[in-house]
Amino acid sequence: MKDDDLDYFKDILNQQLKELARRADETVEGLLAATINEPDPLDRAAIEADRNCTLRLRDRESKLISRIRQSIEAIEEGTYGICEACGSDISINRLKARPIARYCIKCKTKMEAFEKVVGL
Ligand SMILES: [Zn+2]
Repeated sequence: MKDDDLDYFKDILNQQLKELARRADETVEGLLAATINEPDPLDRAAIEADRNCTLRLRDRESKLISRIRQSIEAIEEGTYGICEACGSDISINRLKARPIARYCIKCKTKMEAFEKVVGL
């Protein structure tokens, strides 16, 4: 991959990382404020359910954050854009749609078919 392209993806990944960190802060602050300010037990239960949902979301977010960090490391190590399964180049278009992609479209399609069969 060209240096220009690598810089381009590094910018995108860093922006995504910043955006996720900002959103995570907002989520925590919002949750704390909502629980403290709600006197009605029923509404509090709803907030509680909401919180479980948010925590799951946070879990996904933190996985995403570590994936983004790994991609940035890969850029620095010069392995970014290379399929981890077959070693061929991942197309620029695919990376533009999904900058944290680790597999080329061929391998990804195969994996998804497999995941469907085993019920993951
Ligand atoms: Zn591949």
